[in-house]
Amino acid sequence: MSALLLDIQPGDEVIIPSYTFVTSASAFVLRGATIRFADSYPLHPNMDPEHVASLITERTKAILVMHYAGVACDMDKIMDLATQHGIAIIEDAAQCIDSYYKQKPLGSIGQLASFSFHDTKNIISGEGGLLVVNDQELTAKSEILWEKGTNRSAFMRGEISKYSWVDLGSSFLPSEMTAAFLWTQLEKLEYIQSARVYRWNRYLSGLQGLHERGAIYIPSIPDYATNNGHTFYFLCRSETERGQLIDHLKSNHISAYFHYLGLHKSPYFLKHNPLESLPNAESIEGRLLRLPLYVELSDQDQDRVIQSVESFYTKHESIAS
Ligand SMILES: *Cc1c(COP(=O)(O)O)cnc(C)c1O
Repeated sequence: MSALLLDIQPGDEVIIPSYTFVTSASAFVLRGATIRFADSYPLHPNMDPEHVASLITERTKAILVMHYAGVACDMDKIMDLATQHGIAIIEDAAQCIDSYYKQKPLGSIGQLASFSFHDTKNIISGEGGLLVVNDQELTAKSEILWEKGTNRSAFMRGEISKYSWVDLGSSFLPSEMTAAFLWTQLEKLEYIQSARVYRWNRYLSGLQGLHERGAIYIPSIPDYATNNGHTFYFLCRSETERGQLIDHLKSNHISAYFHYLGLHKSPYFLKHNPLESLPNAESIEGRLLRLPLYVELSDQDQDRVIQSVESFYTKHESIAS
């Protein structure tokens, strides 16, 4: 919907982080856009505004910002670029429910933002999402677009006597069953968020020692950002070591996962584009590991995860020395 609302056309360029989910890019590729991939920071998955600046051309129509793990990107820097060059900002706020940048809710900063209610997120309806329109000029158009390109919403409000096909559109509406499921989740938002943040902080204090010893690296939350407990992750020293840690955890019946594969090296992108190097995204792709975090996780099970990560490094270090 964002790509349609911004009238993205073939030849338009859209800047997107490489370290993100495929739909951040495919929404724009479906409209014929050329994708320019931005790199992450060396030690954080979020996009580096300086690299974004270097990718801007006369054809840049939009920048998509993805706030990894619900932790805000440096939005002042990105919004400055947008104003300077007249570029639209879309927030991929899929992981960002109830998280903030300098007291502003994520998803309220760019012209458009999308949230996900997929069952991997904090608030879920199995499948589903939310488009936030922060630009009054796009509000009427968005209503038409999600009603299959008709002005049925205006008709339902009694503003017109019949509705017809007036623009591009599709069926973007959720079903009432989905909405009902989601509603109860939203009613419990505070409980869910505080349970997740509690788990997150418990991981942080439990693994702080390993971070201080340099065995793992836990990125800190920048002063301008909040943490909504979406994901607890850290960076291993190497891809090999991460693989060994995953195996060790698996042998203790603990599932820990890495995350995105950089989109700039994906088979689909490489079919149409030359291979380029984005060293930070590639490094994070190989080193990032996520630990189990869900509302029903008990203190006891979480302690077992923490102890299992610790025992891996203790064993590792005694072999090394
Ligand atoms: C989950 C996720 C998506 C996809 O959300 P859907 O609801 O499955 O469409 C997109 N981007 C990011 C960053 C995500 O985490």
